[in-house]
Amino acid sequence: MSMPSLRRARRKLQKHAVRLAIWGGFFLIFLIGTFTSFSWRSWRPEGISLLPTVVARINGEDVPRMLYDQAVAQMAQAMRPSVSDWAFIKEGAFDQIVQQVLLRQEAQRRRLWVTRADVNRWVNEQVQLELAVARQRYQRDKAFRDFIRKRFGSLQGYESELRRQWEQQADGVRETLLQQKLRDEIFRTVKVTEEDLRDAYTQFHLRHIFVSFARFLPQGKNPTPQDQEQARQKALEHAQKLRQRLLKGEDFAALARQESDDAATKEKGGDLGELSLDLARARLGDAAAQILPRLKVGEVSEPIQGWSGYHLLKLESKRLNLPPDYEHVRYRCEDKKCGNTWVGEKGARQCPKCKGTKIKVVGTRKAELLAQLRSQRQGEAFQRLLRDLRQQAKVELIDPELRALDAHRHGDRKEARKAYQEALKLALQSPDARRHFLYPEVLYLQLSRLAMDEGKLAEAERFAREALKYSDDSELHLHLGSILMLRAKRDEALKVLLKVANRSLEPFQRQRLASYLEQLGRKDLAEQQRRLAEKERPTSGGVTLPLRLP
Ligand SMILES: [Zn+2]
Repeated sequence: MSMPSLRRARRKLQKHAVRLAIWGGFFLIFLIGTFTSFSWRSWRPEGISLLPTVVARINGEDVPRMLYDQAVAQMAQAMRPSVSDWAFIKEGAFDQIVQQVLLRQEAQRRRLWVTRADVNRWVNEQVQLELAVARQRYQRDKAFRDFIRKRFGSLQGYESELRRQWEQQADGVRETLLQQKLRDEIFRTVKVTEEDLRDAYTQFHLRHIFVSFARFLPQGKNPTPQDQEQARQKALEHAQKLRQRLLKGEDFAALARQESDDAATKEKGGDLGELSLDLARARLGDAAAQILPRLKVGEVSEPIQGWSGYHLLKLESKRLNLPPDYEHVRYRCEDKKCGNTWVGEKGARQCPKCKGTKIKVVGTRKAELLAQLRSQRQGEAFQRLLRDLRQQAKVELIDPELRALDAHRHGDRKEARKAYQEALKLALQSPDARRHFLYPEVLYLQLSRLAMDEGKLAEAERFAREALKYSDDSELHLHLGSILMLRAKRDEALKVLLKVANRSLEPFQRQRLASYLEQLGRKDLAEQQRRLAEKERPTSGGVTLPLRLP
């Protein structure tokens, strides 16, 4: 293969890698999983499973346990989980499934289709890309050449194996392409004008009066969705009243000092300083960023809904702050040996590098900045779609552990405890629980954490000890040790912690252990642990140990 075409292939591969990275998540993990030795498929259930075969419903669509297990297995594989990681892994895996399902449902709603020909084209492209890299290596690398010959006979054999593996992934490819079509459709609708570009480079000097939802929420209980909606309504009414007072001539800064719920700016009369549109969006929300370019200097906005309340905005002043090369053009030197490209003022006569005079205008900075802004806006549009889909989605959790984790995260401890106990019963009674990543030690640890949140330390200790009956994970000893310290059982705590002192630990675990030992008055042992941590550091990231699954 000639050099230019090789370079082209590599460039294409890089582009492809970026594209994959942008699509993110699930499918990539899905593929990595299939090429490695670890396989959850090889486990056959024995006895009758008590686990629900459907873990959740997303807008009425069943999520089969098999799909969930697969996502969990692949995420776990990338992490080498300890007992304390499983909650995070399961929520993460389920979250990926939710996103994937919602995007597919949205694509279907928009009547987007992926044909067999689309799939074939994509598979072909992948095979050619991988083959180009392999061919190059085949010529240079004897060990690789021997490997290919021994394993596949020839490069052709390798090609057909690649094709076979991709064909097996046809469903995954279809899903990925459907997402891509949805993305393309959303990207197509995003238009940016030169005016948008100027707005993006404008600095807005703003004041605001913030009326938080929290001010109108009932105290001392977890707010229901109705409470939240009511608080939103009341916040809006209050903001409208404040606006009326401003329209009648009250001073904005003075009213901000009296009424704003933003502690950071209240004393400064609501002064937010100068913000770009991007900063305004991050700080005040999408709605504010949309209204800002149309607000006149001196004007007070309608109440604008932000992340956690309503804002009344006053535009004090604005100034255009274009980049210095805004009106510049991009040149290319036509001298074949030079090939220099550069940005400069209009009307240049010669190449600054070779002083040649055959130069060509190949673009403008303004167009480049427009393209940048457009791709930024496209990304935002896609994120907005995802957020909307998630907000409107009806996600029904059926698997008790998923229900427990969700309730725990939302601070609904009563529901969390009930669901953890339910999951625990399944974990102890169903013969296939461990094969489906349902572990009593994980559930006991979660129950122990929950008890700690509630300040029930005796119960936390009891659950931690239960967990240790099922697993000897260092994390569990550290957890129990910390509870014993809180309970002022110092001798017992020390005994428990010393059990893991000589084990190989993750650096952050070692640090934690050291700090516990120090709190227990054992500076000598803490020092010892810190020295160990120094020694261990170089191995992290270097060596990968085999997957440790209970
Ligand atoms: Zn030149």
